Amino acid sequence: MKRPGRMFHEVMRSMFRKAATVRYPFVKVQMPARFRGRLKFDASKCIGCKLCMKDCPSGAITIQKVGDKRFEAVFDFARCMYCAQCVDTCPKKALEATGEFELAQLDRGKLIVTFKNDCPVAAAAAAPAGTATATATAPEPKSDAHE
Ligand code: SF4
Ligand code: SF4
Repeated sequence: MKRPGRMFHEVMRSMFRKAATVRYPFVKVQMPARFRGRLKFDASKCIGCKLCMKDCPSGAITIQKVGDKRFEAVFDFARCMYCAQCVDTCPKKALEATGEFELAQLDRGKLIVTFKNDCPVAAAAAAPAGTATATATAPEPKSDAHE
């Protein structure tokens, strides 16, 4: 080692410098404004054009008509790759990518979420056992999505 004092200098500097890391999960992390996390759906803005469904490269969205000019969205967050293409595509700004990133689940069914009037309901909890869920109606991923 050519300059032994150099390491001492570096240690002293690091001791008084602000830490570059945060104590996650003990400290809540605020994501940047343009972070692409979990999606949010505003049913009051949706016109049911299904452009988001057509553009989604993963086949992760299903838009369902539930009444006269009323639609709900089913997201399969296990398929979603958080590209936010659907957010850019939606002509009515009914979709939003939030800063939420803590999405891990042990039960895959909990990643299928139905948004009814802005309110997310996990499919596994919403649908009684044995009834059809959004999984049955979700479109297949586009053929080039996994290549
Ligand atoms: S693109 Fe927007 S308005 Fe059209 S169906 Fe999707 S969420 Fe609704
Ligand atoms: S973020 Fe990308 S992958 Fe996820 S639902 Fe939207 S378009 Fe599909």
